[in-house]
Amino acid sequence: MIRVGTGFDAHAFDESRPLVLGGVTIPDHAGLSGHSDADVVSHAIGDALLGAAGMGDIGEMFPADEKWRGASSIDLLGEVRRALGSQGWAVVNVDATVVAERPRLAPHTVEMTNRIAVSLEIPFEMVSVKATTTDGLGFTGRGEGIATFAVALIENVG
Ligand SMILES: [Zn+2]
Repeated sequence: MIRVGTGFDAHAFDESRPLVLGGVTIPDHAGLSGHSDADVVSHAIGDALLGAAGMGDIGEMFPADEKWRGASSIDLLGEVRRALGSQGWAVVNVDATVVAERPRLAPHTVEMTNRIAVSLEIPFEMVSVKATTTDGLGFTGRGEGIATFAVALIENVG
């Protein structure tokens, strides 16, 4: 059996924090506000994986309490993979679209792809990370934050 899931996340910029996307710290740009490291890419992918398995979402799995304050979301993605594995699910592939007017993300997508693949224990070519803008429209266009859409495919391995 195979199942598909979708995820969406958005965070506002916070000048006081480092910018972490897909487990990669991107220099010289404001970070994102949030309880964890606010890695919007890892969050959207985690929600897509949990959605595919019908196992809720990352907000339920990692509530905004002391335990998860400042947590590394790429590590939480590994926790999601383990949770799916315990229910007999293996990750097939994930695809994410990061929506940001700035910074320019193209130089970082390969490293993000690699970090996500390692965290999910799947081959590099089974992870896709793309970056786009909204041509100046909406909250991402106004430079207020970053959003990410993700889709994930999982298969039952018994
Ligand atoms: Zn988030």
